[in-house]
Amino acid sequence: MAVQNNGSSKSFVKIPEIKFTKLFINGEFVDSIAGRTFETIDPRTGEIIARIAEGDKEDVDLAVKAARQAFDHGPWPRLPGCERRRIMMKFADLIEENIEELATLDAIDGGKLFGFGMAVDIPSSVETLRYYAGAADKIHGETLKMSRELQAYTLREPIGVVGHITPWNFPSNMFFMKVSPALAAGCTMVVKPAEQTPLSALYYAYLSKLAGIPDGVINVVTGYGPTAGAAICSHMDIDKVSFTGSTEVGRLVMQAAAMSNLKPVSLELGGKSPFMVFDDADVDTATDLALLSTMHNKGELCVAGSRVFVQEGIYDEFVKKLAEKAKTRVVGDPFDPAVRQGPQVDKTQFERVLSYIEHGKREGATLLTGGKPCGERGYYIEPTIFTDVKDDMTIAKEEIFGPVMSLLKFKTIEEVITRANATKYGLAAGIVTNDLNIANTVSRSIRAGVIWINCYFAIDRDCPFGGYKMSGFGKDLGMDALDKYLHVKSVATPIYNSPWL
Ligand code: NAD
Repeated sequence: MAVQNNGSSKSFVKIPEIKFTKLFINGEFVDSIAGRTFETIDPRTGEIIARIAEGDKEDVDLAVKAARQAFDHGPWPRLPGCERRRIMMKFADLIEENIEELATLDAIDGGKLFGFGMAVDIPSSVETLRYYAGAADKIHGETLKMSRELQAYTLREPIGVVGHITPWNFPSNMFFMKVSPALAAGCTMVVKPAEQTPLSALYYAYLSKLAGIPDGVINVVTGYGPTAGAAICSHMDIDKVSFTGSTEVGRLVMQAAAMSNLKPVSLELGGKSPFMVFDDADVDTATDLALLSTMHNKGELCVAGSRVFVQEGIYDEFVKKLAEKAKTRVVGDPFDPAVRQGPQVDKTQFERVLSYIEHGKREGATLLTGGKPCGERGYYIEPTIFTDVKDDMTIAKEEIFGPVMSLLKFKTIEEVITRANATKYGLAAGIVTNDLNIANTVSRSIRAGVIWINCYFAIDRDCPFGGYKMSGFGKDLGMDALDKYLHVKSVATPIYNSPWL
């Protein structure tokens, strides 16, 4: 097989000194109250990178107290927006100054491509922070003319103490998607990064302090979901939870919020997105985009377009070209510039993806490429493509979160719309066509929050991002995300002797 694994023979980068391993509460790095730690693992080798403080309910309590104090009595919510902007811009500059170390941390912690981290992940996180920094002094309400002799105005006030819970697939982007609009709004916060990838979040906490963000505004509690994460969701003194993760856990988050103080939640959840290629498409472009849609970030993509529907007229040519290209993808050490796909994030995910591949084979799908682990150590899996997939097979229905694509043939536009929509999810969809009518009809017919026409994974800070159906609600990014962190207050007052009544 042409897919290579060069991660097993040589390691391109030594693990750097890990500077931050403790909880960040009220501007200080501290041990957890119970003194417990957990291991974070390098998926290239399965070896331990560092032991990280394991926060639990008591640590979340402390972090919330610090955030509450900073919100109720500290300067951050009271600063003029332009001052918050200045400090956030400084924070962004500091990230740029430390980009290499940050991209290294995400690569060793999450198996993410170092080059991509340097060129895309960290720079786009910085841009997200700058985008919301620019919004900090543009938050304002409206003046309203009420009926009779009354007028009103609205105030847009920070919602309060926010709990952010993030997944492991884009540790830096997720951190800034959540933290940046909340900072701009004047909120204070407790962030719980995924236990698989805590390293960069702790580094960002350190940089936030250097930038001048006051103590207690950003607190980072590392730890596990059912303990630290659950404590955030059920906390009576947290005013809002912003969650990105699986649909299963999203349901628990909402339940806990409902059973505690009825805090609002926003949920960015899983997906099983359709990627639709029509007969008129350029096959070269379409195959490149299909590989991007499913294999990028080793398939650990909430928006993975892993149900690839191809119209019958170009199906055979598409399959042939796709297989050729998939077989040339180099799998290996994420620091090697030739590598396109690193290891899955951990052993659990590695085994989960392999078990889906077994399901696919058992249920009668045909392996076109891949299907096996590769390398002598670490959690590498070959780019895997199945043909002869039926809509009701497990691999076509469930989110795999790995480099596994299902190919499905279709005849008509109506048919593909119906089949693409036949899922509990509604996060994203891809359309490849040069026919404007097809693009318009299909994009308006698909029940999903993000549609990409002749592109994929085109996520930008000014474009709202989020799902329909069981992929969640409450947008990240764009000005829509700012609203999640703001309350609208109406103030009404009589007007006496108005000359205009
Ligand atoms: P996960 O749901 O297992 O974990 C996400 C976060 O929730 C982690 O920080 C985890 O510790 C925490 N958590 C776990 N149990 C919890 C509980 N009971 N209470 C509170 N918090 C808890 O998801 P994951 O495995 O880290 O990430 C993969 C999932 O995330 C996939 O389903 C993927 O589609 C989804 N995702 C969605 C988006 C999006 O924007 N829609 C983006 C990235 C990932």
